[in-house]
Amino acid sequence: MIVRRRSAGDIIEARCTRCRDVLNHTIVAMVGERVVRVQCNTCGGQHNFHPPQEEKKSSRLPAAGKTTAPRPRKEAAPSTLVQWEARMAELDPDQAIPYSMDARLRAGALVSHPAFGLGVVTAVIKPNKAEILFREGTKLLRCTL
Ligand SMILES: [Zn+2]
Repeated sequence: MIVRRRSAGDIIEARCTRCRDVLNHTIVAMVGERVVRVQCNTCGGQHNFHPPQEEKKSSRLPAAGKTTAPRPRKEAAPSTLVQWEARMAELDPDQAIPYSMDARLRAGALVSHPAFGLGVVTAVIKPNKAEILFREGTKLLRCTL
């Protein structure tokens, strides 16, 4: 059994947006197997293809664009503060190493800085720098590795 495929130029029953009735239309454009655009044989108007039996739900809706969930207006990455709080939650402030230029730091160490407060070493950069995440942001500070 051969399934006849529709193609542009074929006649199809569709709901005309202008005549507001189900009428014969000529297929204007197709995407794959799907009819997307038709021309009304009665009024000659071209419009998107609407199947003859339209679901009541969609026909009631105004012809506005798709109303999906509102776009979140947040930064993609979690803020420094959130990261900092998460790291602080898993570290013991009593174990903080007082920061000094010759403090021996390693990644993951908790540091207490006189100006920036508590921070966690996120990376050590040879020969003598440590990237430390403080409440107010990441700082690159001198240290002894
Ligand atoms: Zn029409």
